Amino acid sequence: IATTVMEKIGRLFINLQQVQQVPQMLKEAAPSLPCTMREGEVPCYLRERYIHTGYRQMHQGWRYYFLSLFQRHNETVNVWSHLLSTLVVLMKLSQLAETVDFVGDVHAWPLLILLLSSLAYMMCSTLAHLLSAKSEFCHYAFFFLDYVGVALYQYGSALVHFYYAIEGSWHSLLQGMFMPCAAFLSWFSCLACCYSKYWSHNLPYWHRKVVQVVPSGLAYAWDISPVVHRIFSCHPCSQDPAVFFHVGQVAFFLSSAFFFTQPLPQKWFPGRCDVLGQGHQLFHVLLALCTLSQIEASRLDYLGRRPLYQRLHGDAAALHFSLLFVFTGAVSALTAVVMSGKVRSSLDHRDKLK
Ligand SMILES: [Zn+2]
Repeated sequence: IATTVMEKIGRLFINLQQVQQVPQMLKEAAPSLPCTMREGEVPCYLRERYIHTGYRQMHQGWRYYFLSLFQRHNETVNVWSHLLSTLVVLMKLSQLAETVDFVGDVHAWPLLILLLSSLAYMMCSTLAHLLSAKSEFCHYAFFFLDYVGVALYQYGSALVHFYYAIEGSWHSLLQGMFMPCAAFLSWFSCLACCYSKYWSHNLPYWHRKVVQVVPSGLAYAWDISPVVHRIFSCHPCSQDPAVFFHVGQVAFFLSSAFFFTQPLPQKWFPGRCDVLGQGHQLFHVLLALCTLSQIEASRLDYLGRRPLYQRLHGDAAALHFSLLFVFTGAVSALTAVVMSGKVRSSLDHRDKLK
């Protein structure tokens, strides 16, 4: 027995040594990249308020930006926070697929759409933060893609709230208009975010934030209304395990919205949060926690409220809502393409004037 234990300890030690070598291996795989730059050395559209250093160089090959995943700069944590969240949601999806019939059970489609739309916004955000420093056009185009991901997630959220979380009384008030309005608001906030980014040079910071935040805030208020109604109408809430996760998702979302709108804590410590501690990084982490809490709440609702949602929606609604998801995604993607075209032509126009 002693020999077997010693062998196992020996093997574990070798494995630990291999794990310790990973950072070194990554360093060797990634060739040394050109140094990062200071705020004054990059154009204004790349500058973030109170972030003084850590900007990547522009106009490098794609390889530079992909390998910058392993370099310390002011976007590293923004990229990794949503890349790791993507992996967590993928693991959650494969775990759920073992027990939930996502193909044959139409009532599982809203849950699948929530998972897919969460993956979409996390992956689009990862790409935007990783690649947007390449050029002015890429900066706009990749953030427009980020807004398409957010629109999809807004729709996915509205769908699970309306399908699984809603109470009969709230459903009877809003039934015919809830999902079409949610689809419109998702697209509209995508358009507003694209416009505010496009006009960002000409608009003061607060105007830009208002154009971004008001449509997204309206969409959130609409999409979360079934959950808020449920939280306030449950008696006693302790008997409903999903309510705990719904309260969690609202709390995480509201705190993430705070850090999205406020340049904190970097405003208090200018230049000291350049790599770690920016408000946008906190926004990413809190939004990912909101999503994970929402997925768990929706899973519990899917398992525990089948008689209610089957009665409210019947068997055909899930297909209609899935088609509306595809339509909303397509229209939002088209909007991003049109806006990218506008950016391209205004950049070409500016180059001709030079
Ligand atoms: Zn972001």
